[in-house]
Amino acid sequence: MREMNSEIYPAEGGEASRSGEATVPAAATPAPGSSDPVHVLDPACGLEDWLAARGQPAWRAKAIRRWLCAGRAATFADMTDLSKDLRAALEARFRIFSTRIARHVRAEDGTEKLLLELADGQRIECVLLREHAREASEAGGGQRLTVCISSQVGCGMGCVFCASGLDGVIRNLTTGEILEQLLRLQKLLPATERISHIVVMGMGEPLANLDRLLPALATAQDADGLGISQRRITISTVGLPKAIDRLSAENPGYHLAVSLHAAEDKLRTRLVPVNKAIGLAEVMAAADRYWEASGRRLTFEYVLLGGVNDAPEDAARLAALLGRRAALVNVIPYNAVAGLPWREPSKGAQARFLDVLRSAGVNVQVRRRKGARIDAACGQLRRLESAAAGSTAADASPRDP
Ligand code: SAH
Repeated sequence: MREMNSEIYPAEGGEASRSGEATVPAAATPAPGSSDPVHVLDPACGLEDWLAARGQPAWRAKAIRRWLCAGRAATFADMTDLSKDLRAALEARFRIFSTRIARHVRAEDGTEKLLLELADGQRIECVLLREHAREASEAGGGQRLTVCISSQVGCGMGCVFCASGLDGVIRNLTTGEILEQLLRLQKLLPATERISHIVVMGMGEPLANLDRLLPALATAQDADGLGISQRRITISTVGLPKAIDRLSAENPGYHLAVSLHAAEDKLRTRLVPVNKAIGLAEVMAAADRYWEASGRRLTFEYVLLGGVNDAPEDAARLAALLGRRAALVNVIPYNAVAGLPWREPSKGAQARFLDVLRSAGVNVQVRRRKGARIDAACGQLRRLESAAAGSTAADASPRDP
């Protein structure tokens, strides 16, 4: 289960320091000189040099990437404007997909979720959300097809209520693995439909893996890639000031969402342990600098946990913290995670919380739950699967009647 609107929410990121510089291992990169097939979606795969060594023109690599992204090619054999010999040689040297679909679930509302098994056996989740036109006024009235992708295996931020970080961070995803989630989800769509929005709100802390995330998002924007404008890409962060500043300096065009969950340090540190070393004042100051650099309205996320941070006083504190900022608050009623003590807020508490914010003039929206039947909250399906595989399936089932 999980709340989703045009986005999904999952877990958190890696063992990132407050600077956002991850100390987690990078992922599988092919050993130099190895004859194992290498992941063609990884920028370090050596495709350009490999082609040059075969006397191929430099633009060929771009054409192959266009086949993979815009052309939705599943095999090199599909690349019909390449010679048969070249296609066979590509097939022998490179592989297009490094992941295997371990599970594919579809909810009644059209939400689809993939559990992907990576080459090293780790599992990640990604989700396709279909929104109707009436929900998509800001997308120009058309249907909004949003994908939610993961940035790490597990998460090191330790947010106490989140399923993704329960076992900490295992590793960063590679650029190819991030891109592959987009291609796998795109393949769920008929040829006439395209992904319109990306939210990096799956498993992991994206700002702890910027070096690999940013090239993947650059390909997503490229006309030969997926052609998705930067303004339709949201990066959600627990709030790592140095990494936010890096984004402000290098890439302020993304839509930034900052997960707050509390408007005072004591409670925030209890819910979001990395806050201890950072503090709300620094998170807000970095968010303000991003806003100055981008000129775009910021989003603040606030997961409502029943009886914990959902009192009218909490809402009043949040309104005071936001002050006159041009911000949108996404209130996310908690999706209960099996085995964790946190619970959903009552309907009454939700209504009171929203009332206080709205009467203080805060721009607020509640994330509707989508795909509730398929454990769409990133980190939950993965957990359910490993519980079922490792111990008894019964441990994992009560949440999803
Ligand atoms: N690490 C990033 C991105 C991944 S989490 C971040 O913290 O923003 C995306 C959002 O989902 C966060 O706001 C997170 O707090 C929220 N979330 C995690 N688990 C949830 C759950 N079980 N129910 C509701 N929201 C959840």
